[in-house]
Amino acid sequence: MPIVSNPPPHIYTGCGFDRAAERRRDPSWLARAQAEPTSRVLLTFGLQILIGMEEDAPRLRLLSPTELPAELLVGATFLGCEQGRAIFAAEAAGPEPPVGRFVELRSVGTALPGREAGLAAYARGLAHWRLRHRHCGACGTANLFDQGGHAATCPACGNQTFPRTDPAVIVLVTRGARCLLGRSARFPAGMYSTLAGFVEPGESLEETLVREVGEEAGIRIQNPRYRSSQPWPFPQSLMLGFRAEALDERLRIDPEELEDARWFSRDELCEPERRPVRLPNPDSIARFLIDEWLAEAP
Ligand SMILES: [Zn+2]
Repeated sequence: MPIVSNPPPHIYTGCGFDRAAERRRDPSWLARAQAEPTSRVLLTFGLQILIGMEEDAPRLRLLSPTELPAELLVGATFLGCEQGRAIFAAEAAGPEPPVGRFVELRSVGTALPGREAGLAAYARGLAHWRLRHRHCGACGTANLFDQGGHAATCPACGNQTFPRTDPAVIVLVTRGARCLLGRSARFPAGMYSTLAGFVEPGESLEETLVREVGEEAGIRIQNPRYRSSQPWPFPQSLMLGFRAEALDERLRIDPEELEDARWFSRDELCEPERRPVRLPNPDSIARFLIDEWLAEAP
């Protein structure tokens, strides 16, 4: 089977949501939209999001501005528009919501419809950025949030900060009909996954791949090929998925990074019931990279 040329969007992607970025610099439009009863507000508390239950399944619980105290909407973050309605995210005053309950996105993400998981991931990422940029990083003065909540500006020195995403590479290293998977001590028992690491300043993605696979497993690689990406807002990563070929077989594992790493044959991993190890969650890009390779003809 050939490599999929257009991989399906992974969980936590935007799913076509219209961010309507041109509205962020239109304060009068934003003020009207915040007062409009058909607009919708996603409440956050810390990094938790508001969830309700529908037929025993979790769903994002979006509220009308009419259901919330007006002061709570002051400074709400504009997320975008959907079906003609503006969608905002606002910080709740306390842990008790008017309806539903606050939960960690990772506890419900895979059970939410893809569109809602993407919206929640977007709101969580912005909430994390806001909570950690209340003060100017240059002079310490309290920041002012503007551009619909997408910019933080220091009134004293003018320093501006924008939401940031940290690029991280994640790679399935192969050698013929075998692939390299490792496990970190933080993983659930028995789980092995692809290697991954953050891009450092002054590095290309290709250089990060070479460095990370070299550092973690002592393996040199060639022919890195980009496959697809996945937002990972825990708290602010973007996973850039690659495939690469190993030039070496003998592993030299860095015990600071990995508890173990091994070569696995396609035959060993193909049959779910015969797998010697557990693979990552089916909604992760790591699992996509592994499954995509397993589906190819040997
Ligand atoms: Zn400042």
